[in-house]
Amino acid sequence: MVDFILFAARHKQDPSGIEAVLTLLGIAVVLLIYLFQPSKQFIRKNGVPCCPQCGRQISLKASRPNCRACGASLMTGRPLLDLTSKSEVADSQARQRTAREEWLRKQAQETEEARRRRVVEDAFREEVRLAKAERRKGKIEENGGYSDLQLYGVGALVVLVPVALTAGLYLLFAR
Ligand SMILES: [Zn+2]
Repeated sequence: MVDFILFAARHKQDPSGIEAVLTLLGIAVVLLIYLFQPSKQFIRKNGVPCCPQCGRQISLKASRPNCRACGASLMTGRPLLDLTSKSEVADSQARQRTAREEWLRKQAQETEEARRRRVVEDAFREEVRLAKAERRKGKIEENGGYSDLQLYGVGALVVLVPVALTAGLYLLFAR
């Protein structure tokens, strides 16, 4: 163990050339990846970062490369070290605009479809309601102006009143 620590300490004092080169290379690679990575693109509304597509608030964390609301990729900004030409940048911006327009068009279409579905459903519900009311009215007319419930009530009274009377009389005279 002691030998090992001594060895490590000696090693640290005198790094071999190849180790130094590898370390520098590693740092350079990490730095390049960092510099060439696309940055997060967003718009600001009242100082709050928002998705350029749907306009809802987004997180600036690196672990959230997509908008949580609409799923759009947010890593579309220019990297810190940008080697692309101006025309490529314009192309990418145009593509992004097209994507946004496409998304807005789809949203509008979905809203319109939902509205149409609602109208159809409402019409159907109204039809069912009218048919029910019509049936009810027909039934009442059939019963001579009384609903089924009213007839049941009368029927129950007709049965219960004599039963109660009989029971009462029985109790009265049975003692
Ligand atoms: Zn979004």
